[in-house]
Amino acid sequence: MTSHIEQSTDLRLTNSIRFAVVIGSGVMGAGIAAHLANAGIRSLMLDIVPRELTSKEEAKGLTLESPEVRNRIASENRQKLLKQNPAPLATADHLNFIEVGNLEDDLERLKEADWVIEVVVERLDVKQQLFERIAPYIREDAILSSNTSGISIEAMASALPEGLKSRFLGTHFFNPPRYLKLLELIPTEKTARPVIDFMSRFAEDRLGKGVVEAKDTPNFIGNRIGTYGLLVTFEEMLKQNASIGEMDSITGPLIGRPKSATFRTLDVVGIDTFVHVAGNVYETLESGEEKD
Ligand code: NAD
Repeated sequence: MTSHIEQSTDLRLTNSIRFAVVIGSGVMGAGIAAHLANAGIRSLMLDIVPRELTSKEEAKGLTLESPEVRNRIASENRQKLLKQNPAPLATADHLNFIEVGNLEDDLERLKEADWVIEVVVERLDVKQQLFERIAPYIREDAILSSNTSGISIEAMASALPEGLKSRFLGTHFFNPPRYLKLLELIPTEKTARPVIDFMSRFAEDRLGKGVVEAKDTPNFIGNRIGTYGLLVTFEEMLKQNASIGEMDSITGPLIGRPKSATFRTLDVVGIDTFVHVAGNVYETLESGEEKD
């Protein structure tokens, strides 16, 4: 705690979040941008530049240099927000709060952001490389956070310049961000206390979240428990030779859980993301019942 107070003396911190840059426009990035839009906060959603043209783009005479192609990933993911159920946006008009771009042509626009949130694929190496690239563009009063499901926030912070470390933390939204109330905030040793307090107030008052401060342990709180629960369920399923339908029928509303139960919840999360999240616990725990 003392370290937070000492570090905060020369801290410059934005006094409100008016504009955010969301990096990664997948399931969570787009969902977070939508939830910000619902709260009246404008954002720019960035994603990678495609390396190949689609047949439709070729037919239109577009090239890999055309802005429409370069912004395709974020742009298509933005459009998908209109089709999802439950609706991530309060109204279709809220889509106008979300701009799109890409991680090569729009880095300068990071300077406009009061808050930059990283929501890219769940890999430490990818996140660290991204942080090295974006750090020079982040304003000196802006906040940077990661939406990782459970990768070490300290390990990510090691890729950041010293001056940014006090304004960096984990902000872990759950899926779907509009509907799930929990938000885990995960500070590092160097995150300044005013930054944690500011994000906590912002998330509660503007975004309607219930904030829990978590320690930087593998998968934090929710996913540590959730991963264990899911893997025990799979183990039991194999032992009992039960079907997916049978497992869902006993792990849903019957025991006070959502009707998406086990397997539909996994589909919402994304099976690839769950494999990363489970692998993270396996790789980072040395031994014990949870690992075996
Ligand atoms: P996703 O696969 O839907 O989206 C990931 C995005 O990252 C894609 O748009 C992809 O184009 C982009 N990307 C891929 N490689 C990249 C690179 N090298 N540089 C920059 N961008 C790149 O994944 P998601 O489910 O949205 O997860 C994103 C983050 O949010 C992960 O850290 C994940 O653990 C976390 N998260 C996911 C969930 C969930 O339920 N899916 C919940 C909470 C947190």
